[in-house]
Amino acid sequence: MKRQAIAIDGPSASGKSTIARLLADRLNMDYLDTGAMYRAITLFVLESGADPNNEKEVNALLDRVDITFQKGDIFVNGKNSSREIRTDAVTGAVSAVSSYQKVREKMVDQQRKIAGDQPAILDGRDIGTVVLPDALLKIFLTASPEVRAQRRVNDERSSSTMDYEAILQAIKRRDHFDSHRAISPLRPAEDAVYIDSSEMTIDQVLEKIQELWEERQCTM
Ligand code: C5P
Repeated sequence: MKRQAIAIDGPSASGKSTIARLLADRLNMDYLDTGAMYRAITLFVLESGADPNNEKEVNALLDRVDITFQKGDIFVNGKNSSREIRTDAVTGAVSAVSSYQKVREKMVDQQRKIAGDQPAILDGRDIGTVVLPDALLKIFLTASPEVRAQRRVNDERSSSTMDYEAILQAIKRRDHFDSHRAISPLRPAEDAVYIDSSEMTIDQVLEKIQELWEERQCTM
């Protein structure tokens, strides 16, 4: 039996969170941004003065970090951190922190609990492959690195001070790191529908996924 869930995976700035949030509104489903959770742990690591490249130091902090959501905002140990998780410092360190096994175990566990049995949309890197392998619909959403860099420049949520060129290089580095790590690397699930949104508007992507979702409902 498949789960009433949509898994949206893909590289940085491919539009996953924008699409997932709007789609969740349209379809009246819960929404969880799992990237925000890895960013939240990374913020805690940096604020604690630990070295994000040192797995032992990061592991030692895991029991002290509590991540919660409220009305679309993310809280780290009770503090609203929605802006702080999008700084360049966090973006630069998040790939290292999210490559550690203990970090992933803690996050995946929490993600499954949050998703529960409610119809939900989750976006991330490993939703279709690891977190919800039984999701009824899996999407792999991507776009060219150049289009993604421009989207990040236009992203109002971003707290970055980098220009287009620097963002483009950072996106390529993160793509490489996320796709080549040993545990849960970024890759499409075998049964994922691949969507390249480089030449598509947000509405076109939404329509396409909604169509696929409705088709799947009929075949259940
Ligand atoms: O989606 P976002 O760009 O905010 O994710 C930040 C980082 O968190 C990614 O570059 C990736 O390293 C990590 N991540 C992950 N698994 C997820 C979601 C995000 O490893 N499910």
